[in-house]
Amino acid sequence: MHGLADDFVAELCEWIAIPSIGADPAHHADVARSAEWLATALRRDGWPTVEVWDTGPALPAVYACWPAEDPAAPVVLVYGHHDVQPVDPVEHWQHPPFEAVVRGEELFGRGASDDKGQVAMHLLGLRAHLAATGQTAPSVTLKLLVEGEEESGSPHIATLLAEHRTKLGADLVVFTDTPLFDRSAPTVCTGQRGHITATITMTSGNSDLHSGRFGGGVPNAAIALARLVAAVHDEQGRIAIPGFYDDVREPSALEREHFARLPFDEAAWLAGPADGVTAATGEAGWTTLERTWVRPTAEITGIHGGYTGPGVKTIVPRQASTALTCRLVPDQQLDRVQELIRRFVAEHTPPGVTAEVVFHGSGVPPYAVDIDHPATLAVRDALAAAFDQEVLFSRTGGSGPAALLHAWLDVPVVYFGATLPDDRIHAPNERVVLPVLLRGAEALARLWRLLPDRLRTPAAEPAGITAELGLAGSARPEPGREQEANRA
Ligand SMILES: [Zn+2]
Repeated sequence: MHGLADDFVAELCEWIAIPSIGADPAHHADVARSAEWLATALRRDGWPTVEVWDTGPALPAVYACWPAEDPAAPVVLVYGHHDVQPVDPVEHWQHPPFEAVVRGEELFGRGASDDKGQVAMHLLGLRAHLAATGQTAPSVTLKLLVEGEEESGSPHIATLLAEHRTKLGADLVVFTDTPLFDRSAPTVCTGQRGHITATITMTSGNSDLHSGRFGGGVPNAAIALARLVAAVHDEQGRIAIPGFYDDVREPSALEREHFARLPFDEAAWLAGPADGVTAATGEAGWTTLERTWVRPTAEITGIHGGYTGPGVKTIVPRQASTALTCRLVPDQQLDRVQELIRRFVAEHTPPGVTAEVVFHGSGVPPYAVDIDHPATLAVRDALAAAFDQEVLFSRTGGSGPAALLHAWLDVPVVYFGATLPDDRIHAPNERVVLPVLLRGAEALARLWRLLPDRLRTPAAEPAGITAELGLAGSARPEPGREQEANRA
């Protein structure tokens, strides 16, 4: 089994060497090469059906299917992506971003964690599954959709899903693009927030006016906009847009209990990930994790108006604008929230001022899977067995195409990831922690064995998987060492 892990690292390094930066047209040929690399690796592993979808408009995506021996076995579609973020500022990398290096337990390189490492983990997981079971086909029918545009916001995922809907049909989607909560606290993620973004512009006239001759007698667009922005939240940190919370699904008591048990050090979070923010703040009655995972937001992401150059210009500005991003939670609906925002802006537009609200795209819907869904519990149990410890529920505050997969394929989506929040994805020196990723592969090998029973008999007790796959093997750190590494 040790050989499997060695080959895996060598392969991942080879894949990382292909700079599949989807955002940069100069690298689109590399995105195609990256797709071909994956297709070749899948064929080498024996996947009977492997296709590169490269006829546009989407950048090349890879589809593969490996049917289970049992035609009645559940069909599972794994989602991931093979495009990567740009590497700027490249001078901050300690190693060239596309020349992967292993230092101790860590493998550095762009895409090591997000998301090539996690997709490669699926390849390894299936090899381990077949080796451990002695089967020539997986226990579930496995399908793979690895897109090439996730880092660009998956602009054509709906097109891909529409075009290939029949082929992609499944009983369950396994979404692999989220991390564990922490190395010392592996978790099963159960949801992501959605988002909508708007630009709101207030205009009070055709030109800026002299503040002496007109000031005090005409509306000021900057003041009107500031009053609107100030009205978005109340004193309790709640969003004051009427109706905003109507469809918000509250987390269950069990979820809140799990969140509370996670080892979250707020002071360290402020100083580290939050980069020097000195106080946590937000909606009263909710913890920081809850505020960032299961509560909606209305964030002012930019504001400008009037004269912003050097020195002083004595004007009454004619125009001011702000950018607003709302992170949304189940069961908020994109179009309804848009309507609420339009209405709120109209109600806060004073006489003599006009307001325009422009939404950028239709937004990304939120998604959460039931924590007692048999597939969620199967993921939890597979992770618990591989990591040899209790696995709690978590969420993530970011957004992704999980809701779209759910909407198009009309099946539940569960999250399976085995990377860490401090992997520096999208930033210089991205890395993945190999022993954690290997345990993820081990958990996948177990998951494919658990799912046929679990999806057949939802109320069944955890099936007793006793086979020690040993993928993590000697790389499995001592518990004490692991704690130490986490504090570092
Ligand atoms: Zn990703």
